[in-house]
Amino acid sequence: MTRLEILGVGVDHLTMEEALAHIADFIKTGRPHQVVTANPEMVMDSRRDQELALILREADLVTADGVGIVWAARQLGGPPEKPADRTSDRTPVKPDKPLERITGVELTDALLRLAANSGYHIYLLGGAEGVAAEAARRVTASYPGLKVAGVHHGYFRPDEEPAVVRGIFQLQPEILLVGLGSPRQEKWIRHHLHELGVPVCTGVGGTLDILAGTSRRAPAWMQRSGLEWLYRLLRQPSRFGRMLAIPRFMAAVLAEKPRRRRKSTLR
Ligand code: UDP
Repeated sequence: MTRLEILGVGVDHLTMEEALAHIADFIKTGRPHQVVTANPEMVMDSRRDQELALILREADLVTADGVGIVWAARQLGGPPEKPADRTSDRTPVKPDKPLERITGVELTDALLRLAANSGYHIYLLGGAEGVAAEAARRVTASYPGLKVAGVHHGYFRPDEEPAVVRGIFQLQPEILLVGLGSPRQEKWIRHHLHELGVPVCTGVGGTLDILAGTSRRAPAWMQRSGLEWLYRLLRQPSRFGRMLAIPRFMAAVLAEKPRRRRKSTLR
C-alpha cells in the first residue's frame, strides 16, 4: 500500500475497494485496528497536537477525507512517504492514479454493506441520546441482513466510560463506528483500542446523525463539486472558527510545493 505525505501526515493511496479489502483482512486477523478518515482540519491540528500526530502515524489505515486532501495530493504530487512507522508492509512507489476521496460517510456506507454481506456485527457509539438507536433501526431496514451488536449514545460521563468500553468488548462486534466528533473520537479509539478488542474501529463524526435522519448530507451536486464543507458551514455557522483551518491548510500546502519540487529533482 502506498502512502502519500501531506504536511507530515501519511495518507494511504487506495480506492474504496482496496480499503475494504484491507479492512476485511483486519477482521480476519481478529486483532484491533484503527482506521482514520483524515481531513485538512485534522492535518492542521496534528501540527500542534502530538497525540493526534501519533495517532495518524500509527493508524492502520488513513483515508483522504474530502476534496481538500485530494487537492493537496495533486499539488504536492511528490514522492510518497516511506513506510516507516506503520506495521504493515507498504511499497513506496509513485502512484499513477489520483488519490481517491473516501469520506467518513462513504466509508460508513461501505462498512455497513460489507457487514451486511459478510455477517459481521457492528456497534454504533455516539450522538445525542436516541441517535445511535434510531440510526441502528434505519440501517437494519436499509441494509438487509445487517446485524447491530449494540448502540450507546456519546454523552456518557467519565465514570461511565469503563462500563461503555466493557459493554462493547463483551458484545464482540467486528466493526465499531464512533461518532464523538474529531479529534476526540480518534483519541478515544486509540486510548481504548486494546480494551475494546474490536478488529475495525473508526471515527465517523456526525455520520450517525445522518443515518438517524437528524441531520442531512449536502445535496449530491454539492458533494460532486467538492462543496460539502460549504453546506455544513451554512447549516452550522458555529463551524466557522474550525473551518479557518482549511485556508491555512491550503496556504501551507502551497508553501510546501516548491520545497517538495526541489526535493524530487534532487533525487
Ligand atoms: N458528540 C457526542 N458526544 C460528545 C460530543 C459530540 O456524541 O461529547 C457527537 C455529536 O452529537 C455529533 C458528533 O459527535 O453526532 C459530532 O459531529 P460533527 O459533525 O461535529 O463531527 P466532526 O465534524 O467533529 O467530526
